[in-house]
Amino acid sequence: MKLILLGAPGAGKGTQAEFIEKKYDIPSLSTGNILREAVKNGTPVGLKAKAYMDAGGLVPDDVIIGVIKERMQAPDAQKGFILDGVPRTLAQAEALESMGVDIDLVLDIEVSDENIIERLSGRRVCEKCGASYHTVFKPSQKPEVCDRCGGRLIIRKDDEPETIKARLAAYHEQTEPLIDFYKQRGKLVEIEGSYSVEKTTERIFQALEALR
Ligand code: AMP
Repeated sequence: MKLILLGAPGAGKGTQAEFIEKKYDIPSLSTGNILREAVKNGTPVGLKAKAYMDAGGLVPDDVIIGVIKERMQAPDAQKGFILDGVPRTLAQAEALESMGVDIDLVLDIEVSDENIIERLSGRRVCEKCGASYHTVFKPSQKPEVCDRCGGRLIIRKDDEPETIKARLAAYHEQTEPLIDFYKQRGKLVEIEGSYSVEKTTERIFQALEALR
């Protein structure tokens, strides 16, 4: 199964990807997580990406295409995968097509901008494994400690209010056109994502079961 999770930053892509990973035993490939790791380690990709990420803009397509191409070649991705946060531009979607990546379904998680701002400002992430939490909607069991690996929970630099605005603008301008792109290919399923995490997961699982 090859899936794409589409939606604004903070729509719940990462959270839902974790549930899909567990149920269908396929890895979630998150360009955001890969890039944050690269920035942390000071790799050439990290050095190229950092300024764009800090400003809330998109990292250039050639960098992203290289990163995701490499990640898709890893052994664990051979049985299928969930693309979380990629593609984010038409050029990235076209690159996937020309690589021959045959996507089964694109889940577009829909949440209003107002709701997104509320969510991103309460988001906390594990600095070690990248797992995502929310102070109100998805708290960790122990404050500021990751349930999964015990790492410390931090506020992402790009979750500051000004950067959130820039990220939402990038989403509307560059990523939203992908909705029509995948609609035209008969791959798009719209998932109402403004209610609870559980309700959204339920809707996603219904859509995935219909595939089988
Ligand atoms: P995310 O964790 O998916 O919200 O990604 C964090 C940041 O990484 C984004 O705001 C972008 O700067 C960058 N990024 C992640 N994925 C992509 C992508 N597919 N295209 C361009 N930039 C990306």
